[in-house]
Parts: sequence; structure tokens; C-alpha cells
Amino acid sequence: MLNKELEVTLNKVENSRRKEKPDQNNLGFGTHFTDHMFSMRWNREKGWHNAEICPYGDFTIDPAAMVFHYGQEIFEGLKAYRGAGNQPLLFRPEDNLKRLNDSALRLCMPRIPTGEILKVLKALVYLERDWIPEAEGATLYIRPTMIATEPALGLRPSEEYLFFIIMSPVGAYYAEGFNPVRIHVENTYVRAVRGGVGEAKTGGNYAASVRALVEAQEKGYTQVLWLDAIERKYIEEVGTSNIFFVIGDEIITPPLGGTILPGITRDSVLTLARDLGHKTTERPVSIDEVIEAADNGELKEIFSTGTAAVISPIGELCYNDKAIVINNGKSGELATLFFNELQDLQWGRKEDKYNWLVRVG
Ligand SMILES: *Cc1c(COP(=O)(O)O)cnc(C)c1O
Repeated sequence: MLNKELEVTLNKVENSRRKEKPDQNNLGFGTHFTDHMFSMRWNREKGWHNAEICPYGDFTIDPAAMVFHYGQEIFEGLKAYRGAGNQPLLFRPEDNLKRLNDSALRLCMPRIPTGEILKVLKALVYLERDWIPEAEGATLYIRPTMIATEPALGLRPSEEYLFFIIMSPVGAYYAEGFNPVRIHVENTYVRAVRGGVGEAKTGGNYAASVRALVEAQEKGYTQVLWLDAIERKYIEEVGTSNIFFVIGDEIITPPLGGTILPGITRDSVLTLARDLGHKTTERPVSIDEVIEAADNGELKEIFSTGTAAVISPIGELCYNDKAIVINNGKSGELATLFFNELQDLQWGRKEDKYNWLVRVG
């Protein structure tokens, strides 16, 4: 089924029905969508079929579709960048498609043919290239998603799926400057436990995390820092981003042990850090170690990594009502360095020595 060539139909929107482009200075995140999307269906008999690039629009889905009841859903997030000469660029898209298949395996969903979907993605981005914003730091955010569509209420893997890709022009994350955020260390709720679905990009993880986010925001914090679910001691992630610590001359990030998302930005930062000659370690970091390092002046920086913000410096942690201020609440040297390096790579302003860029058109 994965070997059969995917036939993709192109059904372009009529010119008169093209949407007006949103105000480039007021894009927000994920609120405007382009003229076209991609979708395809899966069932056991036909495998992937009805693949089409078509006008962006509603789906008709049976209310009994399994996704609505048991949450069998997975997604990805990546971006298209406007490179030199207006050439669209994608950053490590194969890694996103591969990770989608890892999530699919965990959720008992069918795998996508990554080579063919990368071709589809390039065609879709090329078709919508005018939607890639021009402003510095602005991008076209891409959201591949798969849902279980079989109408049935018994709990088992669905026999029918819908995969789609939608795209949204988004503004620069740091429209007001690369400023550190204040983070609440969560000690009531947990995000994931070993053996669960923490390493899959599946909607349920996010639904389960919103309560903690809301409570942290009510207390004036931007995000939640998750501790491990067993001992409530080891640091896992920040919201929907991976986390890095600079303690002494060591750059440390928690290991991929099944409970955290294997971030592509995390991997890119690890690669860059090693290449730049920094001592880089993947190991468990306890909140006590962070507090101690802060107390004795060894804690230099904390920052988080993810596709949306690239790098987000952390200026303050609140743990058990005690504030830990990092680097005097200012953006750290390494956070700034990785932010600039990654952006230069993503926009093709720097030699692509890791072969991370996919050029479109
Ligand atoms: C998507 C995501 C990340 C970051 O992954 P990137 O590939 O760097 O965007 C980190 N943690 C969680 C929970 C995520 O969903």
C-alpha cells in the first residue's frame, strides 16, 4: 500500500474566489489560512486515495467519527520561509514527516508515504508562494494533520482516516523584541508518563495540558514548565517546547526518554552547539539542581526551543512560590546566538552545511 504511487489531483481555486491577503503587520498565529489545502483518505482496501490539492474549505465528517470520541489524531508543525529571490524554503521537512509516522505508529494510525508527501508539500507551498509573508521573521506555518474518520463508537483503531495539510501566514514571534518570559514550574498537573503518549504529537497531550496553562497564566506566567510525573523532580519540557540549561560551561537538555517530544529545533540546537565546540549533554536535570546552580551563580541561561518561536529565553522560573531569576531577567548570549544562527540557516542566509534546507520551485 505504501509502494503504490500516490495520484494527486489538482483542483485550483477560481481566481475570483481567491482570498484577500491579511494585513501583513497583524498576522497573529494560525488565524488566517491560504487558498488551498491538501487532503487524502485512507481505508484498508484502497490504502491512501482521493489525494488532492483543492480549495481550502470545510470537511463533511460523520458525528460518530472516531476522532471526536476517542481522540485518535496526530499532527505536525513546520514552516516555509521566503528565501533570496523569493524562493520558498523548507527547514528539515523530512524530519517532520518521519516524526508524523512515529506518532502514527503509537496511535495505531496508517503511515504516510513520506517521499510522496514531501513532493505534495513542495507543490502546495509553490502554489501558495504569494502567501509567504515578506516581513522580517514572518513565515508560512504548515500544519499536517491526520484524524480517524470511521463512524463507529466501539474502541479500537479506526478503519478510515483523513490526512490534510493546511497553511497559515504567521507574523514574527518576537514582534516586540527577543524578550525573556516568566515560567511557572508545574507541581499539580503532569504532561506525560513513560509508556504514555508524551513523545507523540497527538491532540490529547495538548487538551490535557490546557488546565495547567490557564492556571499559570492567571498567576501572570507565560507558560508551564513540566516536571516528570513520577518523582516531580526532573525537568521535561516548557509548554510545547523543549528546554535547555546553561550551567557553568555545559549546555544541558533532558534526554528523550519517551515522555518528551523529540523536537527538531532541539536537535538543530544540539548539532549547532556541538559544532561550535560547546560542551553539550543530554541528561536528566532536576529542579533542585537548577535552584542550586542559580544560588551559587552557575546557572547562566535557560531557553526553550520549538518551531513556532525558534528560541525563547526564560528570564524567571517560579517554583513553590519562590522566584528564580535567570541572567538578571535578560536574554542570554547562547540563546541569542542559536536564535540568530538558526534563523540564518532557515532563511538560507548561511551555508547549509547540514543539508537541512529544501528549496521549493
Ligand atoms: C512540537 C513540540 C515541540 C517542539 O518540536 P519542534 O520540532 O522543535 O517544533 C516540543 N514539545 C512539544 C510538546 C511539542 O508538541
